[in-house]
Amino acid sequence: MSGDFPQRAEVVIVGGGISGVSTAYHLAVAGVDVVLIERGALASGSTGKALGGIRASFNHPANLQMGVYGREVYGRFAEEFDQPINFVPGGYLYLIDDTIPMEQIEAAVALQAGFGVNSRIIEPSEIHAISPLVNADAFVAALWSPDDAKAEPEPATQGYARAARTAGARLFTHVDLIGIETVDGSIHSVSTVAGSIATGCVINCAGAWAPAVAKMVGWDLPITPYRRQVVTTTDLPDIEPHETLTIDLATSFYFHQERRKFTVGYSDPREEPGYNLTFDPTDWLPRMLEKAGRAAPGLLELGIQSGYAGLYAITPDHNHLIGEYAGVNRFLYAAGFSGHGFQMGPATGRILSELFLGQEPFIDIAPLDAARFEGEYSSAQETFIV
Ligand SMILES: Cc1cc2nc3c(=O)[nH]c(=O)nc-3n(C[C@H](O)[C@H](O)[C@H](O)COP(=O)(O)OP(=O)(O)OC[C@H]3O[C@@H](n4cnc5c(N)ncnc54)[C@H](O)[C@@H]3O)c2cc1C
Repeated sequence: MSGDFPQRAEVVIVGGGISGVSTAYHLAVAGVDVVLIERGALASGSTGKALGGIRASFNHPANLQMGVYGREVYGRFAEEFDQPINFVPGGYLYLIDDTIPMEQIEAAVALQAGFGVNSRIIEPSEIHAISPLVNADAFVAALWSPDDAKAEPEPATQGYARAARTAGARLFTHVDLIGIETVDGSIHSVSTVAGSIATGCVINCAGAWAPAVAKMVGWDLPITPYRRQVVTTTDLPDIEPHETLTIDLATSFYFHQERRKFTVGYSDPREEPGYNLTFDPTDWLPRMLEKAGRAAPGLLELGIQSGYAGLYAITPDHNHLIGEYAGVNRFLYAAGFSGHGFQMGPATGRILSELFLGQEPFIDIAPLDAARFEGEYSSAQETFIV
């Protein structure tokens, strides 16, 4: 913790990941008196574990537009925020086998084109030139999205945090939120390990832990945490430039090059829900290597240097939740990003700031309101799940 702990603030943001710091930045620039509290260090939640993929390949219009906006902002982030984030526009390549309904992919490409996204379905024979390690024989096609990109989440978080502080936001790390007090249906104050803050608005950007924060106002958020494990290979002395993020859509196996190594991962469907952050390759690694053997057997020849685990915060339809809770006056939220929240960060902050200020969000986020899960729920699941 640094600085004098505040006794009041117009807005208290919970969570110092990319969603929280981007929101703090947008609110502070708009002249709002904002305090952010983070119980660890900035980016110590899922943000610090993210691969940094930035894509417009979604089949939900709101996701798609938020992804496009994220790509634009991260593309100019180094200049705008005076903070290099290693933005690399290496594209996303989704490998498609015969279990994937092609009409779903065609519909997504048509939708993406409507939003100016330059994606197209390619033949297996075109795969090698884009992602040389892929065993193209295992696939019937691929979706190639050349303008998609990647960047480093940690410096992006620091860049937003610094700009937020410059604009007047007060950010406190190692401060745990322990309660939210309401009076007559309105937010009155928050309790933290460092003291209470009188406030009329709480914004829940607590990532996989957002359900516990929502519970403090008596609300159940439909978010389930799942461990996601990743390994990096040993350094390669003579590595070819290979910046594409390649994903086997049917298995969720993915890999991409980071400097002289590959980062490789896979979302194991047998993973139990929970907050387990221990990297444990015992069962996971053999399954991951099996997927690698099918999609990119050349990877099996490389040594594994290290591994780590992070959390995905998953909603029932793999689309995130963003909006304002109707049950309490001025409780806003953005969480449940289901593995794609880093790229959404710039749009998330702007949208939450607009919602707080009573402005129309620049993207129609009504379909992402958490209330969609109340009562009878039927909505298409996101196709591009990694
Ligand atoms: C292995 C892996 C790979 C990923 N790859 C990508 C990718 O390529 N592209 C992409 O877009 N996304 C990716 N993601 C998803 C991405 O990391 C998340 O969606 C995103 O970081 C969410 O950001 P956030 O700020 O909402 O949450 P977080 O970064 O989790 O931040 C929430 C913060 O809230 C804090 N907090 C919680 N409770 C409290 C409390 N009571 N008091 C105070 N603070 C609290 C936590 O400490 C945490 O720091 C990946 C995730 C993982 C695990």
